[in-house]
Amino acid sequence: MRIARFSIDGNVAFGVVEGDPSDAEGPVLDIIKGHPFAEFERSGQRIPLNKVRLLPPVLPNKVIGIGRNYAEHAAELGHEVPEVPVAFFKPSTAVTGPGDPVPYPSFSAELHHEAELAVVIGRMCREVPRERVQDVVLGYTCANDLTARDVQRREDQWARAKGFDGSCPLGPWVETELDPSDLGIMCTVNGEQRQLGRTGDMVHSIADLIVHITEAMTLLPGDVILTGTPAGVGPLNVGDEVAVTIEGIGTLTNKVIKRG
Ligand code: MG
Repeated sequence: MRIARFSIDGNVAFGVVEGDPSDAEGPVLDIIKGHPFAEFERSGQRIPLNKVRLLPPVLPNKVIGIGRNYAEHAAELGHEVPEVPVAFFKPSTAVTGPGDPVPYPSFSAELHHEAELAVVIGRMCREVPRERVQDVVLGYTCANDLTARDVQRREDQWARAKGFDGSCPLGPWVETELDPSDLGIMCTVNGEQRQLGRTGDMVHSIADLIVHITEAMTLLPGDVILTGTPAGVGPLNVGDEVAVTIEGIGTLTNKVIKRG
């Protein structure tokens, strides 16, 4: 099931996406009563997807990023693959939605794209045992772990390099029925392919990451884990349209704009 969050006429709601883009009348949203973090009912009230503005599919309390989780990407930046996952935070204010413009950060001259599979947490959890990992996952969405690469090199902590406003596009929706173990993941810039990988090449699996993170902290419904990026990261310029596509989920597109 694909669950989107959207606004229409100033109201915000969640809906189940039905149909696909090839349908003559296009996909529709069946508005759900309540929210997707508990049992919910579909209202039966349907709105064409093209009549709404999609929002980030969740509003995380925190986004936990994992660095250098694909060997080829670690190598392209001159790093070893870490034995223990490298974890960092992106603040909730970094999150932005599908189609939202991303202002180029004023303090950087080297903005990079990083296409990533995002895990959306469905329930409050801590110290999750490996065999219960599936129980705490609501589903998966696309993410772009936008990074001010020059700032990341200069500053030991990545709070500014990876935490600026707009640095965490998420969307277009959460896919709840998906085996994430070996999905194609791609990034294009202005339609040209930049990154192409498979989630099966992750160094630390999603289960490993959830066990590792919840050993330290409580995760809340809507929290997001970014699982690392495959090789091929590279620069973005003002005016570029960057798209992250993950097999079985869809495409997350954002345009880089000049900061106003
Ligand atoms: Mg990343």
